[in-house]
Amino acid sequence: MPDSEYAAEAAAVTAFWRQLGLPGLVDVHTHFMPPNVLAKVWAFFENGHAVAGQPWPIAYRQPEETRLALLRAFGVRRFSALLYPHKPDMAAWLNSWAADFAARTPDALHSATFFAEPGAAQYVAEAISGGARLFKAHVQVGGYDPADELLDAVWGLLAEAHVPVVVHCGSGPTPGSHTGPGPISAVLARHPALIAIIAHLGAPEYGDFLDLADRYPGVHLDTTMAFTGFLERLAPFPAQLRPRLAAVADRILLGSDFPNIPYPYLHQLQALDGLGLGQDWLRAVCYGNAVRLLRL
Ligand SMILES: [Zn+2]
Repeated sequence: MPDSEYAAEAAAVTAFWRQLGLPGLVDVHTHFMPPNVLAKVWAFFENGHAVAGQPWPIAYRQPEETRLALLRAFGVRRFSALLYPHKPDMAAWLNSWAADFAARTPDALHSATFFAEPGAAQYVAEAISGGARLFKAHVQVGGYDPADELLDAVWGLLAEAHVPVVVHCGSGPTPGSHTGPGPISAVLARHPALIAIIAHLGAPEYGDFLDLADRYPGVHLDTTMAFTGFLERLAPFPAQLRPRLAAVADRILLGSDFPNIPYPYLHQLQALDGLGLGQDWLRAVCYGNAVRLLRL
């Protein structure tokens, strides 16, 4: 098991949820990927490609078994294994790796992904029937328009099966050709029952994505990196929007971006606590909402 530095952090994370009276945490935004893909992701962040001028050292650059042991030591009872393609002809292969990972990792949520390409609906249908419970769509890295007609059947399948999809569609940390509230709004207009979990609380377009949550009951938001010192420097959350976090308390889900974060896991939890929205809010966000949404 992890060294003493991690042991101290594990004790502090455990104290956080115990003090709330929770049985642990559920984290809907963690990443597990084939080792060669994860190595490339880490290099991308550490070489300064994610945000110009902002160092992004990976806090948990560890072998897979250590990362799993860490999440378990933190008391993260269920976690996702989000992965995503940056080019065509990659998603089906990632999905087969993810199915294998889920089979050998009972506390991981079976995750899957897709790209705007012919055949996407078929491999998405196969992933759903194979037990995938959570999808990831990375509009910025993928560089595709989520409203592309190649994906219309994919969104339809997800909506019909009530399978949530974590969508990175905000323009942070850097904008892409199809990021921002516009393109995903077009998808929701066609598929209003879609359960979309907007990653990073929609940073930096927080208000626009909270508007979408008001309009569509299936729109949720994950907390990934939001309110941390790191993201507050890049895309501060406007104080006047804080009451709206309480208004959609049942649709905000703990996400962390573990292991690809430049600060300790505990910092995400402290950042949520620092909002001052109360213990009921923290209990819903860190555990209850995900248990209900994912039927855990
Ligand atoms: Zn992520």
